[in-house]
Amino acid sequence: MPDERAEISGECYACKRVFRHDPKEVVTFLVDPETGLPPGITFFGTLRPATPEAVARSTDVPVCPDCVDKARRFGSENPF
Ligand SMILES: [Zn+2]
Repeated sequence: MPDERAEISGECYACKRVFRHDPKEVVTFLVDPETGLPPGITFFGTLRPATPEAVARSTDVPVCPDCVDKARRFGSENPF
């Protein structure tokens, strides 16, 4: 019987750890491959308007549960 949780391996965006996750349930982070950063965030971590081009070329990358926890503990209103 096939496993319904089709887990795959992926590299965490934040810590680069390879972890197994269900792509349907994992927290993902939209990243612009040109900058390696989310389209709406600058290198310095400040917000900027995301250009439609940046959003269009961006891909979702997974974030491991440890890093999601860490982000929540820091009280971020925007957990990725
Ligand atoms: Zn991580």
